[in-house]
Amino acid sequence: MRDVSNGMNDFYRRLLKDGYKSEDVQPALRQVERIVRMEQVKREIYSCTDCPLCTDGKGKVPGTGNTGTPFMIVGEGPGEDEEAWGLPLVGISGSLLTLILEKAGIKREKIYMTNVVKCRATDEKGKNRAPVHEEVATCGKYLQMELAIVKPAVVLALGKIALQFFFPDMKTMSGHRGNVYEYDGIKVIPTWHPAYVVRQHGESLEKAKREVWADLKKAIQCAKTD
Ligand code: SF4
Repeated sequence: MRDVSNGMNDFYRRLLKDGYKSEDVQPALRQVERIVRMEQVKREIYSCTDCPLCTDGKGKVPGTGNTGTPFMIVGEGPGEDEEAWGLPLVGISGSLLTLILEKAGIKREKIYMTNVVKCRATDEKGKNRAPVHEEVATCGKYLQMELAIVKPAVVLALGKIALQFFFPDMKTMSGHRGNVYEYDGIKVIPTWHPAYVVRQHGESLEKAKREVWADLKKAIQCAKTD
């Protein structure tokens, strides 16, 4: 496959020769380069057989959204609906998240959403389960690639698996949720996974919703001020 950077350098030189200004050309080419690189990552994911989840899951679920955003949301892994539709965070919990984002004035297509693990993890009864350490360690390379392409200012990390991808020593969400941490120059704010929120009832549900709302607002603020 043709090297993206070499291709972009060729386009850059040709556009300058045609009289375009460098300051106009560079942002456009960076945008195209991000899109091409992300497409290459998606292709790698679609053909990946690197861990046993490949045989469990029918479909691969790469990230989706705006590759030029300062704001990325990282979940755990695809559930049944995500696997069926091939998109991250589109089931009940993804719909709740989209609702919360809308209330905060954010269109989901303006940001980038992805998961730590790209194939669905299931138990012996076919129910969703959390990916185990080896699966996260094997699949994490794709999230690293996505982070390197998007270079977000802020990541909202949904749930314990996402938190531990960034900070393996943080064993539980409580005590870390809502704090702003630093990972490779990216601000990472852990919050409850919406799948956890939808399992709550009564006052626990209200509390979880309030906390996710506060964490989201904090993440938006960080993305704006970076
Ligand atoms: S979970 Fe990740 S590493 Fe495992 S097969 Fe799927 S894409 Fe490959």
